[in-house]
Amino acid sequence: MQKLTSYIRNVPDFPKPGIQFKDITTLMKSPDAVRHATEKLTALAQPLAVDKVIGIESRGFFFGPLLADQLSVGFVPIRKAGKLPAPTVEVSYTLEYGTDQLAMHRDAINPGDRVLIHDDLLATGGTAQAACQLVEKLGGEVVQLLFLIELNFLNGRRQLVYPVQSVVCYDQ
Ligand code: AMP
Repeated sequence: MQKLTSYIRNVPDFPKPGIQFKDITTLMKSPDAVRHATEKLTALAQPLAVDKVIGIESRGFFFGPLLADQLSVGFVPIRKAGKLPAPTVEVSYTLEYGTDQLAMHRDAINPGDRVLIHDDLLATGGTAQAACQLVEKLGGEVVQLLFLIELNFLNGRRQLVYPVQSVVCYDQ
């Protein structure tokens, strides 16, 4: 088994100049790499005894359900506002240019649920922070933010007051 980083494709200047996009579709093509990444995520999450795994649209939907299955708990999607069919809670958050909104079904978690939030990648932390706000609006407890990839140099974890873990880190 090669290192997981060897399966992650770096795409320079996508979606705009200066961004080094970490493309995990190349990792998803390899069943061995998917299994290995799922095992790593599961090992980090297992001791936490969470009640739900939440995945953030859209690349949090690749490993979120696999992780939830390994932990034998339910999976909950957080989506961009306007996509979920039943009543939702919503939160606005700031992007580099302008704002965006995330939403989660009101009945997705119960007050007191111990929740793990998963996304493919932690950059500045704005998306993860908004996801935490949604969970707390419904009375859930964020016990872990768990990423496949973390871009250390953007210091995302510094603005998050929750425990953060990642499988693969990039220093530049
Ligand atoms: P942020 O809110 O800045 O932490 O950005 C995290 C979100 O944007 C995640 O959902 C990532 O999928 C996506 N993202 C940000 N930067 C990158 C990058 N360099 N490569 C791939 N995805 C990224």
